[in-house]
Amino acid sequence: MKIIDVHAHYGKWFILTNKNSMKDTLEIMRKYSIEKAILSSSLAIIYDFVEGNRELAKAIKGYKNLFGYVFLNPNYLELSLREMKKYLSKKNFVGLKLYSNGYINQPLNCKGHEKFLEVLAKDYPEKGIILFHCWFQSVSQLIELAKEFPTLKFIMGHMGGIEWKEVVEKVKEVKNVYLEICSGYPLRNKIEDAVKAVGAQRILFGSDMTLLDPGSSLGMVLDAEISLEKKERILYKNAKELFPR
Ligand SMILES: [Zn+2]
Repeated sequence: MKIIDVHAHYGKWFILTNKNSMKDTLEIMRKYSIEKAILSSSLAIIYDFVEGNRELAKAIKGYKNLFGYVFLNPNYLELSLREMKKYLSKKNFVGLKLYSNGYINQPLNCKGHEKFLEVLAKDYPEKGIILFHCWFQSVSQLIELAKEFPTLKFIMGHMGGIEWKEVVEKVKEVKNVYLEICSGYPLRNKIEDAVKAVGAQRILFGSDMTLLDPGSSLGMVLDAEISLEKKERILYKNAKELFPR
């Protein structure tokens, strides 16, 4: 079965993982037959976003199967808007990666993020896709943003976290929200429940590699009691439609 990974990272983390080079990423992709991955920079998320974006652009350059999300930090508004312009004008950068709380110390629906989304919708409609790191407390904030920017597509990273049962119900009617499945909790029935609530066409495969091994997310999909056709949608087709390049 073909696979596209919409939630991958490049770079080192402060927690234990010894796989952080591009060689490691490519090896993992080969192991799981991941055709294409869209990555954001760990350095950009946890420390220096300008340097992180630059490092990521350099790392994916020349690879036909690797794409980037540009990471923006709402604490640096003008600098972020310059980063957006710089990277979204490149073919291999295909959307935004945004974070909240923790590393950023701002809610997901902060003024800065709203500004980024406004510019994204206006100037880069063909790249209007945002992967948000989204755990339970930020679910309602993401839904608010999704309603405010109906032309943009919001990927809810980690499906909102461990309380996915409530999350899938909440996003049912918000059609521009996609659920991305990776987390440290590969729980039984998660995929089945999500499919029942929002349909397989709004669920995306992500791994969080190289922070996590793709095996846990992949196992959840392959073990789910859903049709083969729905598995193909989740692992590949939905992402192919969102990121056709
Ligand atoms: Zn991640």
